[in-house]
Amino acid sequence: MNHHVKPPVDPALLEHRNLRAGEFWRAVPAYEHVDEKTFLDHIWQGRKSVKTPEELFETIGGIVDPTFLEDAKEGFRRAPMAVRVSPYMIASIDWTQPYEDPIRRQFIPVASKLLPDHPRLTLDSLHEQDDAPVQGLTHRYVDKALFLPLQTCPVYCRFCTRSYAIGPDTESVDKASVAKTPDMWKDAFAYIASRPEIEDIVISGGDTYQLAAKNITLIGESLLAIPHVRRMRFATKGPAVMPMKILTDHAWTDALTGVVEHGRKLGKDVVLHTHFNTPNEITEITKQAMDLLFARGITVRNQSVLIRGVNDDVHRMTLLVKRLSWINVHPYYVYMHDLVKGVEEMRTRVQTSIDLEKAVRGTTAGFNTPLFICDAPGGGGKRDIHSFDYYDRENGIVVYSAPSVKPGQSFLYFDPIDTLAPDAQARWAVPALQEEMIREAVARAGGKVAALA
Ligand SMILES: *Cc1c(COP(=O)(O)O)cnc(C)c1O
Ligand code: SF4
Repeated sequence: MNHHVKPPVDPALLEHRNLRAGEFWRAVPAYEHVDEKTFLDHIWQGRKSVKTPEELFETIGGIVDPTFLEDAKEGFRRAPMAVRVSPYMIASIDWTQPYEDPIRRQFIPVASKLLPDHPRLTLDSLHEQDDAPVQGLTHRYVDKALFLPLQTCPVYCRFCTRSYAIGPDTESVDKASVAKTPDMWKDAFAYIASRPEIEDIVISGGDTYQLAAKNITLIGESLLAIPHVRRMRFATKGPAVMPMKILTDHAWTDALTGVVEHGRKLGKDVVLHTHFNTPNEITEITKQAMDLLFARGITVRNQSVLIRGVNDDVHRMTLLVKRLSWINVHPYYVYMHDLVKGVEEMRTRVQTSIDLEKAVRGTTAGFNTPLFICDAPGGGGKRDIHSFDYYDRENGIVVYSAPSVKPGQSFLYFDPIDTLAPDAQARWAVPALQEEMIREAVARAGGKVAALA
């Protein structure tokens, strides 16, 4: 026998192919009598989404510990982000372990787990509004722009970067305005047409799942008509949280296909960007939806957020990457969790991302290996996680620079304080020491921070 031959594969290594199938939703009391046709109906999914503690109680009251429900009720009250969870997501949560479940953590807040915000946290930490020449358009990088045509999503993620703007106002946040009507979009199109350097448009939101088919066509065709626009991405969380829409909302899927095909005729690249965070979000329904897009020649890429207790361990991150590859979705980015209000318990250290990158690389094709990045707070843009100028691991201060975006400035990311050693935590409790630690880190990085007081 040739000693170079690999030993037989452990079946556990093929776990990424075991997708949840069958009528799994019937385990949820409220969906016990829901047949497949109804469950796959995107209108039913939207209508039955859980938005209040009362609806949560009606849906899963029979199978979950009452203390959890009380905790969630208080969590809803304190959350900066509105709650909206699709039945598909509700049915994908393991309600016997609601505290640990990675899908529950993303969408349903519980008061007992909340931590104080980091002292350096500000609303709109990415300064998207500072780089907005017209309402609903962020132009930060020279050749690409981010278009935010609407403010709603099929679900609301607790950790949303744009919690300053997305979703209805909540008890703790009045939302900023993004462009919301076809009339307001005209200003964004006119700006893009006036800037010949822009080749690439990200259409996000909110979420393009919420755009009516006719508006997918309107936006797509308006942008395709601008000669210098060569690339477009429609961004949506939809495939992760409501994949059935692709199968049953024929008008929406056909409108997207129409823009992709017209783009192809014009020699322009139109793709879909989505946002899966855990392997548990990917079921047989997802695979059917992605197979349909693949058959139509639509490229799908994925952008995950690294979240504590959700995907911050090697097993789950590797499984996610391999499962995405299995359904022909390219893992593109894994973002550091932004410094967002009210979700400090969801952030991880930068070191966690560095360690995960090392573990994931080599497990599958290089083109299916995501880039681990930090979108530098303060508007520095996306940076390779390893490319910091200095990392004070003791105090959790990471210094990046972005010579092609904002030359001469430094940008800071902060590890969550509760993950630091007790003496470092004590230093963060003293405002004067905070300034000193930050100045020291920036000086060691050899940089300067524009916004530092
Ligand atoms: C992320 C982002 C883009 C797209 O960046 P890529 O690295 O090309 O994916 C464009 N504009 C803004 C403001 C962004 O945040
Ligand atoms: S779907 Fe995207 S934009 Fe909407 S709440 Fe989630 S992260 Fe934010």
